[in-house]
Amino acid sequence: MTMIGATRVYFDNAATTPIDPRVLAEMQPSLSGISGNPSSLHREGREARGAIEQARQRIAALFGAKTGEVVFTAGGTEADNMALVGIVQPPATKPVHLVTSAFEHSAILEVCRYLERHGVIVSYLPVGSDGIVDPEALRRALQKGANLVSIMTANNVIGTLQPIAELARIAHEYGALFHTDAVQAVGKLPMDIRRDFIDLLSLSSHKLYGPKGVGALIVRDGIPFQPLIHGGGQETGRRSGTENVAGIVGLGKAAELAGAEMTEESARLVGLRDQLIEGVENLLANAYIIGHRYRRLPGHVCFGFAGLEGETIKLLLALDKEGVSVSTGSACSAHHAGEPSYVLMAMGIDPFRARGSIRLTLGRFNTAADVEFFLDVLPRVMTELKPITTRRCGNGKGL
Ligand code: PLP
Repeated sequence: MTMIGATRVYFDNAATTPIDPRVLAEMQPSLSGISGNPSSLHREGREARGAIEQARQRIAALFGAKTGEVVFTAGGTEADNMALVGIVQPPATKPVHLVTSAFEHSAILEVCRYLERHGVIVSYLPVGSDGIVDPEALRRALQKGANLVSIMTANNVIGTLQPIAELARIAHEYGALFHTDAVQAVGKLPMDIRRDFIDLLSLSSHKLYGPKGVGALIVRDGIPFQPLIHGGGQETGRRSGTENVAGIVGLGKAAELAGAEMTEESARLVGLRDQLIEGVENLLANAYIIGHRYRRLPGHVCFGFAGLEGETIKLLLALDKEGVSVSTGSACSAHHAGEPSYVLMAMGIDPFRARGSIRLTLGRFNTAADVEFFLDVLPRVMTELKPITTRRCGNGKGL
């Protein structure tokens, strides 16, 4: 059970994951004593450089990439910004077309809006009611040609998986490069940039049991890429600034662990997720899954509750009081809590329903006991919110 003080279950691993103690132990030497500047030529500098290069190898191995294709960043948002602006750098001499989906993370959508203000044409692909982008919609959008396609590997709100290799292959057919925001998927699904035709891939350490504020962009060899951050020329000029050595070491270890444990861990999380889904559906007649039932991340499920659409914040706070941390599906940030989710609206869900969903995301430190605890707490909390919506409240008598 993910305990934080007295009985507490953490089901918000899509927002951020706890740091794995093995990652922390690996970071320790870079956090204490003299941690040199990796650009320095003396021993401390060389040690820091060595630690960074080891991390680079570990990350490259997770994606079938070459070490020179890994560029460290300050997280997923920066990697997404770099990917889009690095390829579609305004001002351009001829029209530039970027294709993305309507339910990307804001780290993509806000960059698209910025690029649109600078003359880039952006097409936003619709998303099916199952939370999956239709490859034929991409093909239609590419009829007029495009420079770059950016589609996320897994959606952060509803957890659905996109047919990335197929989308990337179509992008290439029409001469466009392909970027994927894989922040939610990394470490949960096997990914290989060459097998899956991916040109650029963003990842973030804190979704992978590593520290916050560090990530990477994989940029395939030979891609014409312009840096976003200029300065001392670190990361072979693609991202300047003294490297976050401890963070990078942590990300490297997190990537190594994810690679080694992925098969077993994903199977375990699918089991827990399905136990959770079955339990919720048995307890609550008004619960429905948002997005495809199976084509989703191993530990990820997003539920709507008919009749309780306006009550999700209350539900979240009531669960929090009972010791369970979840998030609303409206956004991964408290800044937009209570607003209809643009992700759900992109799937054709009406604004009223799009306001009411709860995201439950399980991770490495969750157990079957956590799921049982949640299933015990949920009917009680629901009954307090609106007794009429519960079918069986633990005792099977509809109370
Ligand atoms: N992309 C996706 C799909 C995400 O879920 C997130 C974080 O929630 C990000 C990008 C941003 O990553 P970071 O928090 O490392 O900036």
